[in-house]
Amino acid sequence: MNSKTEYDVVIVGAGIAGAIVAYELGKAGKKVLILEAGPAVPADRSKYMDTFFKAAAKTPESPYPPATQNAVANSLDNPLGLPDPSTENTPRYTVLQVDAWRKPTQCYFDYPPQDANVSGTSLNAKFAFASSYERIGGGTTWHWLGTCLRLLPQDFELKTLYGQGVDWPGGEQFYQDLVPFYEKADQEINVAGDKQRMQRLYEQFGVDPSGTYGAHYDFPMPGIVPALQDRVYEHATLGMKYEGNEVYVSPTPQGRNSRPGERRQCAGNTNCIPICPIQAKYDATVTLARALQTGNVEIRYQHVASNIQLDSTTQQVCAIDYISYTHANGIATGQGSVTGKRFVLAAHAIETPKLLLMSNKNPGFENGVANSSDQVGRNLMDHIMYLGWGLAEKPIYPYRGPLSTGGIESLRDGDFRKQRSAYRIEIGNEGWQWAANDPGTTLADFIFGQNNSQLNGNSVNQQGQELRLDDNLPANSKLFGQQLVQTLNQAYTRQLRLGYLIEQLPDANNRVELSSTLKDNLGLPRPKVTYRLASDYERKAFVSAKQITTELFTQLGATEYTQDPGEPNLSNAEDASATKFQYQDDSGTLHNFKFYGAGHIVGTYRMGDDPATSVLNHRQQSWDHANLYMVGSGVFPTIGTGNPTLTIAALAFQGAGHILDDLAGA
Ligand SMILES: Cc1cc2nc3c(=O)[nH]c(=O)nc-3n(C[C@H](O)[C@H](O)[C@H](O)COP(=O)(O)OP(=O)(O)OC[C@H]3O[C@@H](n4cnc5c(N)ncnc54)[C@H](O)[C@@H]3O)c2cc1C
Ligand code: SF4
Repeated sequence: MNSKTEYDVVIVGAGIAGAIVAYELGKAGKKVLILEAGPAVPADRSKYMDTFFKAAAKTPESPYPPATQNAVANSLDNPLGLPDPSTENTPRYTVLQVDAWRKPTQCYFDYPPQDANVSGTSLNAKFAFASSYERIGGGTTWHWLGTCLRLLPQDFELKTLYGQGVDWPGGEQFYQDLVPFYEKADQEINVAGDKQRMQRLYEQFGVDPSGTYGAHYDFPMPGIVPALQDRVYEHATLGMKYEGNEVYVSPTPQGRNSRPGERRQCAGNTNCIPICPIQAKYDATVTLARALQTGNVEIRYQHVASNIQLDSTTQQVCAIDYISYTHANGIATGQGSVTGKRFVLAAHAIETPKLLLMSNKNPGFENGVANSSDQVGRNLMDHIMYLGWGLAEKPIYPYRGPLSTGGIESLRDGDFRKQRSAYRIEIGNEGWQWAANDPGTTLADFIFGQNNSQLNGNSVNQQGQELRLDDNLPANSKLFGQQLVQTLNQAYTRQLRLGYLIEQLPDANNRVELSSTLKDNLGLPRPKVTYRLASDYERKAFVSAKQITTELFTQLGATEYTQDPGEPNLSNAEDASATKFQYQDDSGTLHNFKFYGAGHIVGTYRMGDDPATSVLNHRQQSWDHANLYMVGSGVFPTIGTGNPTLTIAALAFQGAGHILDDLAGA
């Protein structure tokens, strides 16, 4: 194929959403072109593994281009050596940039200034966005965890049931219509799960399991062997209730092979984020390869979509402009336009709205394409995460198996959603890696006599308990040899971590706009991101998460190590309290919190029933331009209580069906 080929469909973005649409259309004999901003999927993953091994900081993004850190940390002002995004052709936001949020030469996003005199409790305080994504062939699933939960029917009608947020178009019916596509998504990702134990959860929330699964459905792969600590939590939560709901552990359905198949079986080496060395974990390169094998799909890597052209008479999309490059930091080496009958944007929830907003030269659409509602870029959401961590009484041997194999799903819905956000609790199996940068922190503490982990000093936890790991050792011990190994073994084998995925309400002022001052190396504007925790609804859920963490650790006989992050100083631009906030509860107690990002970037081009308040109709089709579709988590009106990607995949299958109907003139 060449650029004169008449494509049926042009897709922007080769992540899971774009790959599924391409695969479905390619199978149906449609000619498809994908424009992908990032580099090609490598023939094998050893180069990415190599980059990961050599990276100083092991973050979700560290294996992937462009580099997340320079080889040498270059200045006091830039101790991590973060590269300048203005020199990169496909910059993206990384977790290392969160604390550099006020430094445009280190952080891809532009952030608006803080209002004067804001405090941590102010609902209009602005924070750094805490979640990241990739811009490479295959997209962000390269470093996803693989958790594959469905949303609950209740998640689709938050407004009707609880008076919060908005409903999805058609409410609960949307869920029912999605069920067959959830099945397809499970099959495509080859989800490993335990149907019987998920049934308990669905029954609790009034979902008819046979309707949920289909008459003969089961997960394509048997469940992954649970981590040892899942069993410990199971035992500890027997008979436990919280605010009327039972508390119990469910094994997590997950996109990794529990048996050898087309790909290898999970070998349990706890490296799923940032990269599975043996591709036991599903990533979108699997579907992308299937799409290309149809013979009807062409992909152009290192082609950055930069503008959407509208036909001035019909107001339909007539072409997408791109800029191409050869080297990640080199000059643009080409530019052009591609045409098709239908267009699909699948560049995820930051870059898709950016592209729509950049396309502001079309007469009558000066606010950007598909933006007559002014909703493009708004309602940016994430699962804002609370982390709690502790030390079990006896070894529970984390760091063996995937990063998480179980969770507490039974608190995902209830009448409490009138007052506060729901959450699911992920049981972490990677010790204190996320919570406290372990194993490095504890190792450094016992070598250099520090106490950053609170294991080697005179720290006291929030419940007043002393935290010394080994009473026989003096505070700030400096150890070596066998004693060091034995001490570390006492710590690493007992580390517990809980992560709460707290649902965030849509807020029109949480938004992606175009920076008026910052550009990337191709001269394209960088995203300007405004992000707040604009209601007590979410903050109350943090108090609840803090409370139940303590209850769970008490039930377990564990000692809690969750650190109070201290007071934020948001009015000081230099202060790195980018994600610290406070909440004063009804008893007057002031709680300090730090939130983390779940990587679930949601809501910036939402579906709805009303063209005045949404970008897309229930078919994921632009209200303004009938031949333009969008897929990915940007279409979600609310974030719900499950990790988003299974729903993204189901919606991509459903959307592909709509496009095929559309092309057939149905
Ligand atoms: C650390 C981490 C862990 C996660 N774990 C889970 C999990 O366990 N379960 C779960 O459900 N979800 C998880 N997620 C979220 C999940 O990774 C995303 O929801 C999912 O990958 C989004 O898929 P997508 O296809 O919409 O976007 P992406 O995968 O981001 O793909 C978008 C593509 O568009 C391309 N692109 C961008 N701009 C342009 C442009 N201008 N022109 C052309 N192409 C462009 C990009 O290069 C990219 O390839 C996690 C995320 C993170 C960060
Ligand atoms: S535990 Fe290891 S083999 Fe299994 S999915 Fe994670 S990284 Fe891959």
